[in-house]
Amino acid sequence: MSDSRTAGALGASASREPAMSTEPSGAPETVLDIQALSKSYGETPALEEVSLDVRQGELLTLLGPSGSGKTTLLKVIAGFEAPTSGRVLLRGRDISRLSPARRGVGMVFQHYALFPHMTVAQNVGYGLKLRRVGRAERERRVGEMLELLRLEGLEGRYPRQLSGGQQQRVALGRALAYDPEVILMDEPLGALDRALRIEMEEQIRGLHRDLGATIVYVTHDQREALALSDRIAIMRAGRVASVGAPEQLYTRPADSFVAGFFANANLLPVVEHELLAEGHARVRCGGSEIRCPTTTTSVAGDGVVLAVRRRSLRRAASPGALRIAGVVAEMLLFGDEQEISLQSPVLGRVVAMMDSRDCAGLALGMEVELFAPAGEAVLVPVA
Ligand code: ADP
Repeated sequence: MSDSRTAGALGASASREPAMSTEPSGAPETVLDIQALSKSYGETPALEEVSLDVRQGELLTLLGPSGSGKTTLLKVIAGFEAPTSGRVLLRGRDISRLSPARRGVGMVFQHYALFPHMTVAQNVGYGLKLRRVGRAERERRVGEMLELLRLEGLEGRYPRQLSGGQQQRVALGRALAYDPEVILMDEPLGALDRALRIEMEEQIRGLHRDLGATIVYVTHDQREALALSDRIAIMRAGRVASVGAPEQLYTRPADSFVAGFFANANLLPVVEHELLAEGHARVRCGGSEIRCPTTTTSVAGDGVVLAVRRRSLRRAASPGALRIAGVVAEMLLFGDEQEISLQSPVLGRVVAMMDSRDCAGLALGMEVELFAPAGEAVLVPVA
């Protein structure tokens, strides 16, 4: 419903060029070019040599644990913090020394930070007024935003008269209304309950798709990142650990941190490995020898582990599969799925997420064998 409505509203009034304006080479144009940014707060390094490009019309998510530098990176891009070194280019222009208001960057925060003494319409129109857009054009644009965000009829209300979800929609409208080059969103759905988050994710996806807005989105929630992102930059201790499409990070994690944090994978000890052609390796792990993909090019015996995602494990054997034998140590029911923890004498604790129907007859203390198709295990370097 909401999608067709959003599309309809835009069909009539979209003022933007199509999302993916491309260079002659066909590669999307870089809008934001972040070059070797470092930032320390006193002795604490918050960012170390972060380089990233954000392309026209993409939604790039910064995903990482608390304290990994996501918010600091957004603040440096927005101009609320000065970098210790490095620079930020917006369409090739160095904006590192401009004040926040002059950067052409919109922001949406977790706590909506709406102006309490302004109505919905005034909040949404604020950026336009600041940029001296004439009254008629301002009213047209605000009307368009209110329609797009399903806030019609609420234009005269004050923030305190709105629900959390409505307030967050006003905050989105305020950031989008003046058509900034880039919109930065810092955990914008963090304060909302789960049902509302999912609804708002859908709305952000729709806005992103229909307006072609370029968005840098911060979250620590892997599910949210998967639902929204064109690309994800995984941050760890002030650095970008890996950047890629969700699918790529999921199926070919660059290292053990990415596999563990993003794909929630088991990281199993490897007895020995041999690199083969075309990104594959022969790996001995537990009692099995398998041929699987690899993202390490190291031939050294240590410094590698086998990443096996929880949902890759099942009870049915398949040719060439990794076999894991152990005792059921824990069972947790999640509706249609169950999380089974096995204690393996050779591999330690291994966690599987399986269809509940596949778990029939399992009980605590029981000895079982689980299997992972060889193509779904990945040999990765230890981060
Ligand atoms: P994230 O958004 O990923 O949780 P932050 O960017 O907030 O991470 O923080 C990165 C690091 O910088 C952390 O170690 C944090 O404690 C530190 N930090 C952030 N803001 C400040 C500040 N204003 N003063 C001192 N240290 C800070």
